[in-house]
Amino acid sequence: MTDPDVIVVGGGIGGLGAAYALTRRGLAVRVLERASAFGEVGAGIQLAPNCTRILDDYGLLDEARSLGVLPDAMIMRDAVDGAELTRLDLRDLERRYGFPYLVIHRSDLHAMLLRACGRAGVDLRTSQQVTAYENTPDGARVTLADGRAEEARIVIAADGLHSVARRLLVDDEPVSSAYVAYRGTTPTASGRAADVDLSEVVVHVGPRCHFVHYGLRGGELLNQVAVFESPKARAGEEDWGTPDELDAAFARTCGFVRGGLPDMWRDRWWRMYDRDPIMTWVDGNIALLGDAAHPPLQYIAQGAIMAIEDGWVLGEHVARHLAEEGWPAVLAAYQAVRPEHCRRVVTTSRAWGELWHLDGLARKQRNVLLRERDTYDYAFVDWLYGPTALDPADEPPMFTPIPLSSAKTDALAPFAP
Ligand code: FAD
Repeated sequence: MTDPDVIVVGGGIGGLGAAYALTRRGLAVRVLERASAFGEVGAGIQLAPNCTRILDDYGLLDEARSLGVLPDAMIMRDAVDGAELTRLDLRDLERRYGFPYLVIHRSDLHAMLLRACGRAGVDLRTSQQVTAYENTPDGARVTLADGRAEEARIVIAADGLHSVARRLLVDDEPVSSAYVAYRGTTPTASGRAADVDLSEVVVHVGPRCHFVHYGLRGGELLNQVAVFESPKARAGEEDWGTPDELDAAFARTCGFVRGGLPDMWRDRWWRMYDRDPIMTWVDGNIALLGDAAHPPLQYIAQGAIMAIEDGWVLGEHVARHLAEEGWPAVLAAYQAVRPEHCRRVVTTSRAWGELWHLDGLARKQRNVLLRERDTYDYAFVDWLYGPTALDPADEPPMFTPIPLSSAKTDALAPFAP
């Protein structure tokens, strides 16, 4: 068996995206996935223009469009009274950035990337649990749970939040936010879902909770996500995020939000973790990618996008540097640009969560500030939705979204100019 050029550990959205990006540059890539089948658990995912631009470059945007929904607007509402706070006009946004804002079922996105990898010739292997990583004199080696070892010139670890490879670089743990997400998809053919306007992506933000909904699969499904802070998690209890907590957390919210709770899957829930940012992702011939490197809280919907960007940036630097300067130059260029961008996203996601979940006077102050925002002011997303930077000099300055004039609270402070 010939060694591949690159082993990618993890066949999630990040790993498959990277495998595709590297294979189209002429490299032999093997993906090692621990599960017995490739797949994604969960429901919808939002893909902003910084991702659809890359899908277009890969020749996959038309397929993604056909699988998803292109909404007209993204609207933020107050979860208590249902009132609109601010909106993005997604048609205008597409004109501004040149690429659409798309919502898609996770399993459709994942399956699309899997098909693209298959067509490109990626060696896709399941039931391959990697337990250890090490550098060798001319490459890197992974050890599998059955004791076998595999080697390649480069190993990309896209092994998610609980990454084994990350331990090569840092001795850290996932950080619990004490928030938990419930998800659910409902056919729109009848019932409450039939009356929901699927031309909108809506987030209702409320005290220690929020609720997101949008359409999927050309409008066949309504995707809903209910997220709240678990009192049991705050109290240090093990059994946290249970359905009784879901109902209690949304008791104060408006009728539309409460009406969505029965549609949630109640037999599974997702506890929300991120990790503190780390600025070194490369150890010799082993590099982290996706959630292994930068798991965020999901508030600005950039986790999978960052993972797809990581793979695209690697592929671009292979094209620029590999032939003349070799892998050290490729990995150095990746390392130079991605950690700082992702640090900004991870920290901004935490700050957005604080803002969304305010209560009392701070909630009212937030609402005043959000209502003051001009619909066509893109300053707070330009740094995210523009072209993905390949060099640190191209990384746009990070924006502080809310001009604080009248009100200042601790929770609003991260947004101060
Ligand atoms: P993962 O999806 O975790 O994939 C890791 C893969 O590696 C898995 O297949 C796993 O089985 C495999 N693996 C793990 N360990 C090993 C091992 N030892 N050996 C072999 N294989 C292994 N992001 C967005 O961009 N937009 C959104 O709208 C959005 N919404 C979200 C909503 C919620 C509620 C949540 C929780 C997240 C959301 N995200 C969103 C974030 C996004 O889901 C993740 O950031 C993204 O899926 C990470 O992809 P990944 O491939 O890096 O990691």
